[in-house]
Amino acid sequence: MLKLHAIRADITKLKLDAIINAANSSLLGGGGVDGAIHRAAGPDLVHECRLLGGCKTGQAKLTKGYRLPAAYIIHTVGPVWRGGEQGEPDLLASCYRNCLKLAAAKQLRSLAFPSISTGIYGYPIELAARVAIKTVSAEVADQADMEEIIFCCFSDADLAVYEAAIREVNQ
Ligand code: ADP
Repeated sequence: MLKLHAIRADITKLKLDAIINAANSSLLGGGGVDGAIHRAAGPDLVHECRLLGGCKTGQAKLTKGYRLPAAYIIHTVGPVWRGGEQGEPDLLASCYRNCLKLAAAKQLRSLAFPSISTGIYGYPIELAARVAIKTVSAEVADQADMEEIIFCCFSDADLAVYEAAIREVNQ
């Protein structure tokens, strides 16, 4: 039975099959959760990332986790919020879908997502949380291998938003 829940944590500390990185299109590191993941994984991560040739918005690429407790990192590039009429919801949904596709191809059983696009990229978190939960719930319905999916929030306020969105989608 799949567990889908939100917690407040530093995603770099989670011991799971994979954590998701809200990366930028260079995949060479940046601020926010991306910087934290690169610092915690160590310099071998950027070496592997250099070989990947970047990543387009809405797409995802997988690397090893190096010094992280998580075995793998799935890097995805969320949309920058430009008011919501520039395809942002579809692009954000495709981040979640493409991460889950890569996880399924590797038969990964446990994942944690950060709140993609809601930091530096400015996506309003109430809207982003709904896209995240709806997309993941729909997508994992036919992924038999998946056991646990965590929405890893970095503040109590973000956690409250995700918990409300989970309740709303489950109604
Ligand atoms: P983006 O550029 O996609 O907006 P950010 O890294 O700026 O990405 O922010 C995405 C989310 O990740 C924000 O909610 C931010 O608070 C959160 N975040 C930052 N550091 C961490 C961390 N170590 N663990 C989990 N979430 C984090």
